[in-house]
Amino acid sequence: LLERVSKHFPVNSLRRGGKYVHAMDEISFSLKRGEVLAIVGESGSGKTTTANVIARIYKQTSGSVTFEGREISKNMSREDELRYHKKVQMIFQDPFGALNPTRTVEGILERPFLIHKIASKRKDVKDRIDEILTQVGLEPPEQFTRKFPHELSGGQRQRVNIARAFAVEPELILADEPTSMLDVSNRMSIMNMMLYLKESHGVSFIYITHDLAGARYMSDRIIVMYAGMIMEIGTAEKIINDSFHPYTKLLKTAAPSPEIGLKRKKLITSGDIPSLIDPPDGCRFHPRCPFASDICSLEMPVMKKIDEDHYARCFLR
Ligand code: SF4
Repeated sequence: LLERVSKHFPVNSLRRGGKYVHAMDEISFSLKRGEVLAIVGESGSGKTTTANVIARIYKQTSGSVTFEGREISKNMSREDELRYHKKVQMIFQDPFGALNPTRTVEGILERPFLIHKIASKRKDVKDRIDEILTQVGLEPPEQFTRKFPHELSGGQRQRVNIARAFAVEPELILADEPTSMLDVSNRMSIMNMMLYLKESHGVSFIYITHDLAGARYMSDRIIVMYAGMIMEIGTAEKIINDSFHPYTKLLKTAAPSPEIGLKRKKLITSGDIPSLIDPPDGCRFHPRCPFASDICSLEMPVMKKIDEDHYARCFLR
């Protein structure tokens, strides 16, 4: 559960006059057990910062992040820290950079078992590694256990990353653009494999992506972020078929997908995400929004309820 979480990074104080990058502002959402929640946005929207705060890579500037009723930004004992990192696993975007190039697949996968003291007997660890490699489609496992990351294809490396995340039976997976560096043929099979593992292992998923079509395919609910803030949140079906926020509509036109019935149209507006050092006053989307009125540059809209399980940050009615 995130409640009004902000993360501001200081920038070079001499050159920037002691300013901050507002990477995340007032982010609130909860995640149900077994749910897949996608966070969608362009780069610079704050989606990866949000995942990194939940993973305890960054500590939030304000607000609270609780997991199973416990505030996670507080200092933890070494045991609690280990327990948290067993329960919350991350899958990174770059499948090569995330793997130690000097270890074999077996060496990479046995580390979490040793760190979290999951299986003490070598034979048990080996059996678990074989089992998870089979589950991620790297079979027969003996063909992969002795290989180094550079001997694998991009798709195989990402399967090893996913195997490592699932090996310790986590409760939450944070997947940060896990398919964006893969070719199209691998993307679909990796997404299907993650959905299969999610069901069979009963985990919750936060799926970070810039791809609205992929978010729709993977998730139960979607959060749309822009310039560090949530613009719209709702069930995947409502965000795709009944989107309210002008920015979500822009994303839909920019992300055609026959599979979800989106066709490429002229973009409703042009421009880039604004600087997060001096974000615009009022609605952060107003410089690009074709529906902006005077109030939009003066006041920040609050999240309002559009429908059951559907909220948007916009003054439009
Ligand atoms: Fe556009 Fe105004 Fe809505 Fe922002 S609040 S999205 S500027 S109409």
